[in-house]
Amino acid sequence: MNQIEVDVLIIGAGPAGSSAAALLHREGFKLLVVEKQKFPRFVIGESMLPSSMNWLKEAGLLDAVEEKKFMRKHGAVFLRGNETCNFDFSSQFTEGFKYTYQVPRAEFDQALADAVAARGVEILYQHGVTAVNFTPAAALATVEKPDGEKFAVKAKFILDCSGYGRVLPRLLNLEAPSNFPTRESLFTHITGDHRPPGREEGKIWICIHPQDAWIWIIPFSNGKTSVGVVATPEFFKKFPGAPDEQLRAILLSDPNAAKRLANMQFVMPAQRISGYSCAVKQLYGERFALVGNATEFLDPVFSSGVSLAFASANRAAKVLTRQLRGETVDWQVEYADYVMQGINTFRAYVAAWYDDKLPQIFFSANRNPDIMRQVCSVLAGYVWDKTNPYVAQADRALGLLAKILGGQSTAAARKTS
Ligand SMILES: Cc1cc2nc3c(=O)[nH]c(=O)nc-3n(C[C@H](O)[C@H](O)[C@H](O)COP(=O)(O)OP(=O)(O)OC[C@H]3O[C@@H](n4cnc5c(N)ncnc54)[C@H](O)[C@@H]3O)c2cc1C
Repeated sequence: MNQIEVDVLIIGAGPAGSSAAALLHREGFKLLVVEKQKFPRFVIGESMLPSSMNWLKEAGLLDAVEEKKFMRKHGAVFLRGNETCNFDFSSQFTEGFKYTYQVPRAEFDQALADAVAARGVEILYQHGVTAVNFTPAAALATVEKPDGEKFAVKAKFILDCSGYGRVLPRLLNLEAPSNFPTRESLFTHITGDHRPPGREEGKIWICIHPQDAWIWIIPFSNGKTSVGVVATPEFFKKFPGAPDEQLRAILLSDPNAAKRLANMQFVMPAQRISGYSCAVKQLYGERFALVGNATEFLDPVFSSGVSLAFASANRAAKVLTRQLRGETVDWQVEYADYVMQGINTFRAYVAAWYDDKLPQIFFSANRNPDIMRQVCSVLAGYVWDKTNPYVAQADRALGLLAKILGGQSTAAARKTS
């Protein structure tokens, strides 16, 4: 078998892979990016968070994104029946970008990968990593070409940015069960979305369906809109028929989605993903680190996936740079603990979403603007800012707030009855 030798092998050319490659290439390391699919390729995960813009800028990839004129996203609107909670990132608590983009991922991921390739990083498309072997001296990977022929890559280190491919978690038996129950998602792209005007046009809508599901509406600048529903498998059984029929019926049975989507036309067949929440036993090893979705994926409700992919890639690239220069690094403290801080903050919010604490907070009549600015910051992806009490003690702070606001609405209801 032929063998190529590099400093770092990066598996996958999604947001994690491209941004890690950009940072490591700038430091002068010899890289190889191996990507299983042919680009452009569809992948779900289209609503970014403002914190992503900071990571893109640091990787020198922001211009490649700005050029594409994607839809500007200024916030997130949560809707339940006739109740609304409208977050605008202009009011967020933490310093940093206050807008981001809604991105068709085929175009977005290709723009990032092309920008990295234009700097001289080699990306082999339609090449998949099929096996790995770690020795004290090197990391060895087997790569399969489109014609089935295989070759070996000898690297000092492997960054696994394979997303849903979860290459190293599978090959090294690092998978761990998620602490969230199995949910599934049915989604498509449509035209005919009746959008709100001006600054509101680009915000994501999250509609709470009357029967225990939620719907996303993500508008793109190309006239298409991404729509999808997330629920337990039991919910979907209530809507019989083929996936297109099922999705249409679900969307039109929510009052807020129905208002906006009455004239929708599907531009691709509905697709289903289930059981996507996953975790791992460890985030790094002697000559590898897991990055982006190859680590832990919680849930799509707060659009955190791409932001966490950029954040973990940024941190992994920095720690690895120092290691390859001969410095002593501590992957646990400098990488794993950092990444888990971001994941765990979102974990508290995802849990509070599904146990109804967050809806209770979002739709309370007594919301405190200062607290909502702090919550808004988390929804903007600033989940490492420990000066924000809704980051530092997310679980406790949300629990307490829901209790106070819940108590106030019960008292108000008693007064009016
Ligand atoms: C229903 C749903 C909705 C979501 N919505 C959002 C959202 O609105 N916003 C958001 O930020 N996130 C969202 N996400 C999460 C988002 O999809 C991911 O977090 C994000 O794509 C992670 O980026 P990544 O670079 O880690 O991986 P990916 O984008 O998955 O890229 C990994 C790449 O690795 C390649 N690969 C896989 N196996 C191999 C192999 N053996 N060899 C070589 N290459 C390989 C793949 O082909 C792929 O191109 C959503 C997820 C779900 C399930």
